[in-house]
Amino acid sequence: MAKAEVFPWLGECWTHLCGLHERRRLPHALIVHGVQGIGKSNFATAFAHYLLCQSPVADQPCGTCRACELNNANGHPDLYVLEPDEPGKPIKVDQIRALTDFICRTAQQGGYRVVVINPADAMNVAAANALLKMLEEPGRDTVLMLLTDRLGQVMPTIKSRCQRVECPLPDESVAAAFVADTLELDSDEATRILRINNGAPMSALAYNESNQAELRSQLVKGLADVLKQRRTVVEVAQSWQKADLELLLGWFYSMLVDISRAKLTQSEAMQQADAHNMLLAVSRKCDSVKVFELAELVQEERKSLILRQNANKQMLLERVLLAWSAIAR
Ligand SMILES: [Zn+2]
Repeated sequence: MAKAEVFPWLGECWTHLCGLHERRRLPHALIVHGVQGIGKSNFATAFAHYLLCQSPVADQPCGTCRACELNNANGHPDLYVLEPDEPGKPIKVDQIRALTDFICRTAQQGGYRVVVINPADAMNVAAANALLKMLEEPGRDTVLMLLTDRLGQVMPTIKSRCQRVECPLPDESVAAAFVADTLELDSDEATRILRINNGAPMSALAYNESNQAELRSQLVKGLADVLKQRRTVVEVAQSWQKADLELLLGWFYSMLVDISRAKLTQSEAMQQADAHNMLLAVSRKCDSVKVFELAELVQEERKSLILRQNANKQMLLERVLLAWSAIAR
């Protein structure tokens, strides 16, 4: 039997949904929420395979029926995965309209029709309104799963029509064991990568796969250079122009959290071990209020990027770096 890949930390969510399904209480719309990088899309795909399976066994798809064969060959006609045309771009109203055709026709294999929208927060207003109509009059045996790590960006009227499934962040030991196992690393190295990625295991795997270590070291070096006045704020900002700023600001925010925590607890421990000495030096000299203000600024700037408010990258970085340069003075 081919077991669906359900990560250990999502096991409870899995059992809960399977239970609803078995009692015929599964709602027609679910919103699957949890921080970025904990495996929501794997989870949704696995659950879709389970729902489509013709003879599931012990909360698992059987792996051998016609539906499982189609799913394993990556093409069940009753599973529809809706994503932006390009990562980071909005889901448009035309894409939702195309979905209507899928929902209105009869399931080809006679069971469920399952739709996964990923990420649900990428729907623009027109798309969200079009989906709303669908949620008001769902077809029979239709299950929609809306995935998001930005619940605040999903229209309240959509949220109110979906049952929420909260995916928890795993305990560090569980997540580190998973990362160590998957990437064949020792547990210290796995923990280090995991902490850079806010404890999210799939983000840690992506970090390793897409060579984000280079960007990471550019961040640490740039921050140190600004503090020691080896390079100007403008120069460092220029050197980061082409970087994934959302990622970069996310890392920077975690460093500021480390500094705040060190000040509050009078401790020298830093989660962001690769920047330990710099963060410790700053925490000894800086003012707590300034750290909070900078952390808030970083969050605000990151939000403007996420909301695609056409941020001027150079200006944005200069604002953040200028505040950083002043923090320990
Ligand atoms: Zn099956």
